[in-house]
Amino acid sequence: ARAAGQNSLRFVDLDMQTAIATRAALEADMRLGLERGEFLLHYQPQVDARGDPTGAEALVRWRHPRRGLVSPAEFIPLAEETGLILPLGQWVLESACTHLASWGARPGTAGLTMAVNVSARQFRHPDFVRQVLAVLERTGADPRRLKLELTEGLLIDNVEETVARMIALKAQGVGFSLDDFGTGYSSLAYLKRLPLDQLKIDQSFVRDVLAGGNDATIARTIITLGKSLGLAVIAEGVETEAQRDFLAQHQCDAFQGYLFSRPLAADLIDAFMGARTR
Ligand code: C2E
Ligand code: CA
Ligand code: CA
Ligand code: CA
Repeated sequence: ARAAGQNSLRFVDLDMQTAIATRAALEADMRLGLERGEFLLHYQPQVDARGDPTGAEALVRWRHPRRGLVSPAEFIPLAEETGLILPLGQWVLESACTHLASWGARPGTAGLTMAVNVSARQFRHPDFVRQVLAVLERTGADPRRLKLELTEGLLIDNVEETVARMIALKAQGVGFSLDDFGTGYSSLAYLKRLPLDQLKIDQSFVRDVLAGGNDATIARTIITLGKSLGLAVIAEGVETEAQRDFLAQHQCDAFQGYLFSRPLAADLIDAFMGARTR
């Protein structure tokens, strides 16, 4: 038994070494990938209660030369740990705003908004506000059409500084949505102090909204909470008509999910918007 125990310990060690080596390789690959232009954006439509598109969320993709398309769920956490999220996030913002500016230039798509994910580390960087304003300037995108998605993690420490940054960007018209709402550690006291425009109900609550458990109550409560704070509410991960109908009945304003569209490559999102807007 002892020997077997030692053996399994050795296996754990090897597994850990492999994991560390894999992460190191991934990190090196990511650096190179940024230089080589292997990252791209997909865009997932957001629609109003009538099903008309109001904009899209930019979602990053990595086309790795050997591994193919790598999911952001795999590389965003590593990018956050290593700090690579800073150049990557900057690239995402620049590309999304370039696309947003192209919408602004055409009458049929001029009113659409672009939602961009911002990680806590990116938001906390001392130059963040200046960088966003510089990107807007460079790309010619309308700040009033840009919506930054923040997560609850940001609310925990230094609320003062968070509020100050949000206000600086809001002064130029930039909007804010609180992403994955209900999954983190939001305190209602902080929530009240943040100059948000929108709450985004996490897909984990949307998924089982009709399953008869607590999720219907949670979803309804988030909508009521958002409304009472004067915020718009959007639901993500909407896959069925029944989910959409339930949420719409409870005054959810906007929807995003496979029911309407999967995230689309740049040319396809323009076709989608072109066909559905006027
Ligand atoms: P998220 O911000 O919560 O994005 C929503 C995720 O749900 C996306 O996964 C999207 O493709 C997926 N999704 C959309 N509709 C449905 C649906 O109806 N059903 C299901 N099952 N899934 C749906 P994706 O693109 O793999 O992104 C995963 C996460 O990676 C994002 O979660 C976000 O946290 C992060 N991420 C993606 N792009 C960026 C980025 O540019 N910057 C940062 N910081 N994070 C990003
Ligand atoms: Ca998001
Ligand atoms: Ca989300
Ligand atoms: Ca989510």
